[in-house]
Amino acid sequence: MKSQVLQTPIEYLKGVGPQRATLLRQELGVATFQDLLHLFPNRYIDRTQYHKISGLNAAVTDVQVIGKLISVKTIDQKRGKRLVARFEDETGSMELVWFRGHKWVKQSLETHKDYVAFGRVNHFNGTFSIAHPELELLQTHQAQRRSALQPLYPSTEKLGKSGLSNRVLGQLVAHLLEEHAKTFDETLPDALLERLKLIHKSEALISIHFPESQTKLRQALYRLKFEELFYIQLQLVRKNLINKHKIKGYPFPQVGDIFNEFYHRLLPFELTQAQKKVLREIRQDLGSNAQMNRLLQGDVGSGKTVVAFMSLLLAIDNGFQGCLMAPTEILSVQHFNELSKWANLLNINIKILTGSTKASKRNVLLEQLKQGEIHCLVGTHALLENRVQFKNLGLAIIDEQHRFGVAQRSKLWHKNEHPPNVLIMTATPIPRTLAMSVYGDLDISIIDALPPGRKPIKTVHRRDANRLKVFRFVRDEIGKGRQVYMVYPLIQESQALDYKDLMDGYESISREFPSPNFQISIVHGQMKPEDKDYEMNRFIQGQTQIMVATTVIEVGVNVPNASVMVIESAERFGLSQLHQLRGRVGRGADQSYCILMSGDKLSEDAKKRLETMVATNDGFEISEVDLKLRGPGDLMGTQQSGVLQLKIADLIKDGETLKIARSYAIELLKSDPQLAQEQHRKVRDTLKAILQFKNIWNYIS
Ligand code: ADP
Ligand code: MG
Repeated sequence: MKSQVLQTPIEYLKGVGPQRATLLRQELGVATFQDLLHLFPNRYIDRTQYHKISGLNAAVTDVQVIGKLISVKTIDQKRGKRLVARFEDETGSMELVWFRGHKWVKQSLETHKDYVAFGRVNHFNGTFSIAHPELELLQTHQAQRRSALQPLYPSTEKLGKSGLSNRVLGQLVAHLLEEHAKTFDETLPDALLERLKLIHKSEALISIHFPESQTKLRQALYRLKFEELFYIQLQLVRKNLINKHKIKGYPFPQVGDIFNEFYHRLLPFELTQAQKKVLREIRQDLGSNAQMNRLLQGDVGSGKTVVAFMSLLLAIDNGFQGCLMAPTEILSVQHFNELSKWANLLNINIKILTGSTKASKRNVLLEQLKQGEIHCLVGTHALLENRVQFKNLGLAIIDEQHRFGVAQRSKLWHKNEHPPNVLIMTATPIPRTLAMSVYGDLDISIIDALPPGRKPIKTVHRRDANRLKVFRFVRDEIGKGRQVYMVYPLIQESQALDYKDLMDGYESISREFPSPNFQISIVHGQMKPEDKDYEMNRFIQGQTQIMVATTVIEVGVNVPNASVMVIESAERFGLSQLHQLRGRVGRGADQSYCILMSGDKLSEDAKKRLETMVATNDGFEISEVDLKLRGPGDLMGTQQSGVLQLKIADLIKDGETLKIARSYAIELLKSDPQLAQEQHRKVRDTLKAILQFKNIWNYIS
């Protein structure tokens, strides 16, 4: 179909008109012919199947029943009138109910005739009923040729009330397809259709609305899902390639003295294969003329810091400055301390800048930065301020990127003539399919193995009834010189109660672990930042043995001597949060433990979460389960929802299709970056239309 026709306002479709058009627009976002075409059914009902009334039960939802209308009467109650018809087959009887339009309905009903009733069954006081059924004389029903699978479209109460029933919607779509199906444009190249055995666009659109069989439906779904994923991936991959061509980076052609000195003389351990692989990928990027935009994923403790440091050395070796930005003050300080140990041995001038850097100190620092005397600057968001000017920023490393918005990231770009090379580090593993969508325009490196010799953290799940045993265990560990975290949930909606739990917990812990033998730190969000830091530092320095906290204990906080993590009400935490919290222990040489405390009553999901935590330490495995339990939108927050709002494909179920779509997008753009070849004309045109209008489904036909 030519796009002009498809953009026709929906009111001009036969059977619509201005009133229905307004409804369709408001209720379903259907404004044009094309929108209606892309109003894909949620489900299908097999209308070759008929139910017997005696066979109805609470589990069946939409049914089709053949029966006779026995009686029709109007019942007048305080809450309003309703029309109730008794409907019987040879096995039993049920009710059909109308709350609106009685008069008209009543007139049209003929008792003692055979009808087919179709609709959603309700169950009340032992009686089954269907409200506002689709009702057809059996004779008419049989005379119609209908496809076996009937579409069920998204609907709203208002639509139902206004007579835009599922049946009417189906009729409108059928009408549209009859008129125009022959002229739908194909949007994928013939060679691809052949290679992947995809059906044509027009066939897919017909079959998605009115499938003749399950096989046809499957083919249509696959074709349309592939198309959706393909064009998203095409855009992401293209953006990545364009960036590489257009944005001139700062190449670091040489691996210099400082890097070599560190690598051969100072590095206290052998890099893991995973670290080496990632470093190679980074070096390749940095050696090229294109700007690097790379995401570095690695589980907690996988050794991202040393990779970051060595990347900074590459910048410095080539006469550039580098910076490392972390989301909080504590994390910045920690990074700074860690990097300083090595930097000082190499005569690298490294400084830290945060919100609490004193003005006098800051002014000196900013001047040195501008002169290029500082090689490496570590800090918080403070680095993004305009007054922070580098002489030549060549590499920006961002830790825990999900806490920084994309807009903030791009601020770093404006500190130079060209944007610096960017390395984003995250310790929150996300499933590959999700990464391909959310970070599809970045290159991705993954550190997928931990350094050798780590003792896996032992995780157990304990009920509240076992609390005393848990405390005894904690006491023993402290006796061996270890430190312990005890974490309480804090949820926005139940804040007041949660704080009470925390304070109650703190009190009982103070009783169980009295001073002077035991010292306890407490940290929560209602404390002043100074007090928080003070308490945190007491724990970091080993002056306290127990840290009672809400989840404010930061991602990345590193206290190697802490070897026990007790998580209270663990059933209330999400999986990735549990995994992050557990990552606070297991950082030293000692065996570490994670104890998940919960009540007795657990939802299915909570059970699955706790079981998963006990079963594995692998962040990627955990993230896969998390994705299945929560869905992609919740997993990433709303921030990235654009690429996640898929119309027909599903990132969880269609992971394989996504991978194929992406690899084909890459292959296509590598062979024909401008999509200039005649065989790619359809792709070029479709992409152009998408980019122009930005809503992927708006222009695919
Ligand atoms: P994360 O990826 O969580 O930031 P870190 O970089 O903090 O992990 O590394 C965790 C610990 O492992 C650090 O103490 C670090 O020195 C150590 N480490 C990193 N790489 C190796 C390695 N290849 N062999 C041994 N220890 C390593
Ligand atoms: Mg780290």
